[in-house]
Formats: sequence, C-alpha cells, structure tokens
Amino acid sequence: MPTPAHHPHLMHVYTRQPVSFVRGQGARLWDAQGVEYLDAIAGVAVTNLGHAHPEVAAAIAEQATLLLHTSNMFGIDWQARLGERLSTLTGMERAFFCNSGAEANETALKLAWLHANRKQAVPPQVLVMENSFHGRTLATLAATGNPAVHRGFEPLMPGFVRVPFNDLNAIRQAAEHVPGIAAVLLELVQGEGGVHVASPEYLRTLRLLCDERDWLLMADEIQTGMGRTGTWFCYQQAGMVPDVVTLAKGLGNGFPIGACLARGRAAELFSPGNHGSTFGGNPLACRVGCTVIDAIARGGLPERASVLGRRLLLGLRRALVDIPGIVAIRGQGLMIGIELDRPCGELVRKALEQERLLITVTRERTIRLLPPLVCDESQIDEIAVRVRRLLH
Ligand SMILES: *Cc1c(COP(=O)(O)O)cnc(C)c1O
Repeated sequence: MPTPAHHPHLMHVYTRQPVSFVRGQGARLWDAQGVEYLDAIAGVAVTNLGHAHPEVAAAIAEQATLLLHTSNMFGIDWQARLGERLSTLTGMERAFFCNSGAEANETALKLAWLHANRKQAVPPQVLVMENSFHGRTLATLAATGNPAVHRGFEPLMPGFVRVPFNDLNAIRQAAEHVPGIAAVLLELVQGEGGVHVASPEYLRTLRLLCDERDWLLMADEIQTGMGRTGTWFCYQQAGMVPDVVTLAKGLGNGFPIGACLARGRAAELFSPGNHGSTFGGNPLACRVGCTVIDAIARGGLPERASVLGRRLLLGLRRALVDIPGIVAIRGQGLMIGIELDRPCGELVRKALEQERLLITVTRERTIRLLPPLVCDESQIDEIAVRVRRLLH
C-alpha cells in the first residue's frame, strides 16, 4: 500500500492510513491497485446510502447543469422543499441550512444564547455532557467533552456547564447551583465518545426538566440522524421531541450540507441579520438532501438499520463470545461499539491490511462500526466474521 501518512503540502491534523480509495459501490471500496474493501464506517456515518448511489449521482449531475448557487438574497426552491421535507419528518417547524455539523451546532448555540439573553439568564450557560463531541470550531470544541479536543485552545469559550451523561441527578444539581442555564445540548447516542446510548427514561425526564425551567432541549443528531439508529431520528425512539435538532453527515450522503431545525419558541428566535451563510442552502446541496430523503424513505432504510443493527449486534456477540478482553458490545441500529479492555488503535490498520475492512477506533479502546444502511445481510454477517478474525 503506497500513500504517505502525511503529505508535505497538507496541514498535519489527521493520522492517515496508508491507503487511498479511487472508487466505491454500495458498501464496497477499491484502491488504485483494484483491491476490494468492505466499508463498515460509511465515511463516519456519512454515506448511509452507500457509495456511488445512482439517484444521488444523477441529482448532482443534473443540478450542476441547471444552477449551483445564487445566494440567500433570493428565494431557493430546493431549500424550501428540503425545509418542508425535514419539517414533516421531524416535527420541527423551521430549518437553517449550512455546510457541516459544526456549523449546525454553532447555529443551535446561537439560538441558546439568544434564548438566554431574552430570558435574561446572564451570563448564558448551556449544559453539555462529559464525553460528548460537537465539532471543531471554537464554540463547538468548548461544548465537546474531550480534553484532547481542548488541548492548546485555552482559554475555552465560556458558557458551558458539563455534567455526566445519562445522569439525571447531575442535571438537577446543576439546575440548582448554576444560574443562567438556558439550554441542554446532547447526543442521544454518543458517537466519538465510544457509542454510549442515552436511556429513554433519561431523555423523557430531561424533556420535563427543560419544560419546567424554560431550557431549550437541543439534540445533536449529526451522527444518529437520517435513519442510522433505526428510526429517522434517534429521539423518536425515546418518545420525546427536542426544541432544536442538528443534522449533517448522512443528510448529503457525502455532499456537504448541515441543518439546524427548531420548533416552537426556538424557531422564532432569529431575525434578519442574526445569522447567515454564503453557501448554506444552495440549490445543489438542498436538491441532494431531498434526493437522499427520497432514497431513504423508498428503501425503508431506518427500519432496515434497526433489523440489520440487531443482526450485527447479535452476530458480534456470538462471534466474539470466546475472545478475551471484550468489555462490552453495545449500540443502537447500525451504530455499534465494541469496547476492549485495552487501547486498540492499531486495529484500524490491521483491519485494512489483513481483513480489507474499514473500521474506526474511538476513545482509544472502542471499535466503532457504522456500516452503510444499504448493506445486505451477507455483508453484515461478513463484518462480524472479519472482526472475529481481527481480534482472534
Ligand atoms: C461529526 C459530528 C459533528 C461535527 O460535524 P462536522 O461536519 O465534522 O463539523 C458534530 N456532532 C456530532 C455528534 C458528530 O458526530
């Protein structure tokens, strides 16, 4: 395998594997030598419809011949259409479109700050979780609960209070002792944090606490959304509805797009001049978003993610039953973590070289699997077989 770990002309922010792919199809990828790989990470929960999806490709190609960009000074029909589609799917009322997950969360945080200032909760505070991940901009890295993401960027932006995940008492304590809280921002399944699932009871009670105290409940569904966890959005399994939902990753299947959705009073906080984006909501990105939604709906992919996720979880539990050093195998839908009792970062490269399998390792000791939702049963079973050989 060629390809150097760092290129002299690229900023050194990634540790890259020594392989680069030239083509993909569904859950399969090929490198320049024609070697085939099985993709169990989908570009980190992005290419949920698989690689080279024909309808997405056709939408991009056709829209490129019609209109790429005009700016938000004008009406954009595809943007209005995507806003309407997302509103029907989520129960949110209004959308703001941007280009990435971090920008979607920045938008949500600006709503929280506006809400705080309106209710004179000063200085504004947003409750965030230990072990969370919300992005790499200065505000979203401050919201992120990972010291490695903070290192070197102090002083962090103020206004975040951190509590343990899945812990209602910690939230009640903060409510009592910290003035100025205006919102809670959380992932419903922590992805980068090692695949930790919030309990439905925790989420429902959190909803009640937010109502009692006039806090905005903001769900970061950037990784969990678009069918990945077995429903269109993960909060739909908890039986509660957030005030703000952020999306990105799977919304464009690889085309960059992010969205911040809001309902109720949260949907009315912005007014002209408060926020904006040059590229956000352009005709191409929004047409791709609509096409992706159509394809997910037509394929019944949220339900498929639920069925395949259960199959993979059980398959892994069976395949790894006699492997020592496994702490837990957990997840929701096609978002699955295998926690080991030791750091295992070297497995990413070993999986590529020995098993031709793409995996990620997060928080040093958790193998994370995020296969495309269009996998068939045999590909799901093959992932379990290869992971077993990898750990054997
Ligand atoms: C990936 C991710 C982000 C950041 O998205 P970018 O598009 O990389 O800015 C934020 N929150 C969660 C939960 C994510 O998984």
